[in-house]
Amino acid sequence: MKRIRVIVWGENVHERESELIRKVYPDGMHNCIAEGLSSDSELEVITATLQQADHGLAQNRLNETDVLIWWGHKAHAKVADEVVDRVQKRVLEGMGLVVLHSGHYSKIFKRLMGTTCSLIWREAGEKERIWICNPGHPIAQGLGAYFEIPHEEMYGEPFGIPEPDETIFLSWFQGGEAFRSGCSWKRGNGKIFYFRPGHESFPTYFQAEVRLVLRNAVKWVSPEGSRWADAIPNVKLSPEGIQQQ
Ligand code: ZN
Repeated sequence: MKRIRVIVWGENVHERESELIRKVYPDGMHNCIAEGLSSDSELEVITATLQQADHGLAQNRLNETDVLIWWGHKAHAKVADEVVDRVQKRVLEGMGLVVLHSGHYSKIFKRLMGTTCSLIWREAGEKERIWICNPGHPIAQGLGAYFEIPHEEMYGEPFGIPEPDETIFLSWFQGGEAFRSGCSWKRGNGKIFYFRPGHESFPTYFQAEVRLVLRNAVKWVSPEGSRWADAIPNVKLSPEGIQQQ
């Protein structure tokens, strides 16, 4: 069986700059996320970080990638526009994209959404209860009616996104706010899934339910076999009718 080729992209800044965050994620968040995926034999997982040449996302590497996972926060502005162009093109061709937590403000997510992607937030370590809106969705398989994360940053509505094709999860926070925390869209041939949890100072990516959601999400956004590279052909008319290029 052909395995799904995944890159977990991590900004990898908090973990390098803060002793406190290093205590939560000693190997970096990207490696923790990758570890949660690697338990699944259907997935072939590697990581990439901002600090690498081309941010670890050279064209030839992206060409051999089925799904890209994106975690960024402090250094969105440091991501080269050229790399954003490249990722966008691959998504339009069919590569799946999973955007996590503060990746809502990443260049690539804002580019693909075309809206502000803003939200309200509060860092108070509140409990988050994630309700499953569609238990029949492939990303929700294996979950109950809801699951809880004991301590998380709050993200609340209004969330400045285009109306999702589907809202799969809806979060409630201890402080009373609600948020569309699992949303999907299609752009070109590519499926996109945004998943809210994952603030750097909480061990969210070690939690079993979160790891399950990510494994399900990677499989759901992975391309369904076809790929269309848009070459903008100039199609001439001829006396015999339209010619195939
Ligand atoms: Zn955060």
